[in-house]
Amino acid sequence: MTHEPQYAMRSYQPRAVETGSSTRSIAETLESEELCRGLLEKARWPSGPVCMNCGAEGAASRLTTRPGLWTCKACRRCQYSVTSGTQLHRSRLPVSAWVKLFYAIEIRGQRLTASQVSRRFDVAYLTAKSMLRRVEALKREMPEMAMRLETQLRRLAAGSSQN
Ligand SMILES: [Zn+2]
Repeated sequence: MTHEPQYAMRSYQPRAVETGSSTRSIAETLESEELCRGLLEKARWPSGPVCMNCGAEGAASRLTTRPGLWTCKACRRCQYSVTSGTQLHRSRLPVSAWVKLFYAIEIRGQRLTASQVSRRFDVAYLTAKSMLRRVEALKREMPEMAMRLETQLRRLAAGSSQN
């Protein structure tokens, strides 16, 4: 383990993260869209969702109609998800694809080409190219989020079976 978080972890714990059981491989664990979304949410908002519109903390309410969508009880003008305002926004890919790609690059240290990404995620070559570019841009633009995601993934990998 090379990174330890340089900030205090507070009480916000998405339930999904806890479901990574030690008997599953990391690849199986990362198949779960809910778990991956939880990882991203915790990486972006370590103390809970922050409104994209008014900046309110602790005022987020889950929309039951669409998984991953939040509304703000403070301004009531905003619906947002963990990818809103990030490089991962407006993508048709499941959030688990982003987390899996991030895992492959950052934790496994794989230097993937667009052709490899295209085959692995069953997407067009140009989409794959854009995925690689967006992961790099996310790391550049939101380094703390990327670092927290990396820390969480290392923990998950450490607790998973090696299959
Ligand atoms: Zn708001």
